[in-house]
Amino acid sequence: MKKGEQLYEGKAKKVFATDDPELVIVSYKDDATAFNGKKKGTIAGKGVINNRMSNLLMQRLEKSGVPTHFVSELSQRETLVKKVKIIPLEVVVRNLSAGSFSQRYGVEEGIVFRRPTVEYSYKNDALNDPLMDSSHAVALGLATEKEISAIRRMALKINRELKGFWNTCGVTLVDFKLEFGRLPDGSLVLADEISPDTCRLWDAATGKKLDKDRFRRDLGGVEDAYQEIMQRLLQMV
Ligand code: 5GP
Repeated sequence: MKKGEQLYEGKAKKVFATDDPELVIVSYKDDATAFNGKKKGTIAGKGVINNRMSNLLMQRLEKSGVPTHFVSELSQRETLVKKVKIIPLEVVVRNLSAGSFSQRYGVEEGIVFRRPTVEYSYKNDALNDPLMDSSHAVALGLATEKEISAIRRMALKINRELKGFWNTCGVTLVDFKLEFGRLPDGSLVLADEISPDTCRLWDAATGKKLDKDRFRRDLGGVEDAYQEIMQRLLQMV
């Protein structure tokens, strides 16, 4: 597979064309940002961990019937994925209160929900990714009603699979963000990444945060936490 021109550079990844118009190469960086780019830094080794972790988790999800963009891992930081049109929605699933949920409703972190929640935000940096009712997403033409229903079903299935898997690693899956894309035939696949950048992962015994909140909140031990969560995963795959 020949690596072509750079098509896009995001906060944590670069995307390159290939000689196949239906495939692109994603390259994971160590750059870290938070609060819509206001906080910037580097997490040494993060790109390698996020690439490997996202690929292992997406392969698991594929096996359980969730279509993803994953094709093959090319190197420590690079993965071949199906080219998709990203639907500009951030889909967040929550099992416990934390982060913006706790802030919005003025509740402590760590309340275990009886059922998971699913919410949508408009993926738009200029507007600060505002929370969005699904009917507004349809009104703006971001997705059809049918697509929103499929996205919600897939998000809940992904939650069941990932929650169960992390549980076997002694890790609580608190919440996570997903992005979906459309293939040329219009079908939906899970895209972007599943990593400590996009999930809240707490040690089930101690509650220790093993994710990007260590960076966002200046808790220290960021690199060690990324290494630890990767080791936990590798012991179970
Ligand atoms: P919250 O809405 O509480 O800030 O985030 C909920 C979950 O979604 C967390 O696991 C967080 O990591 C993830 N998340 C939400 N928005 C973003 C985003 O813009 N970038 C990344 N990397 N993760 C996000």
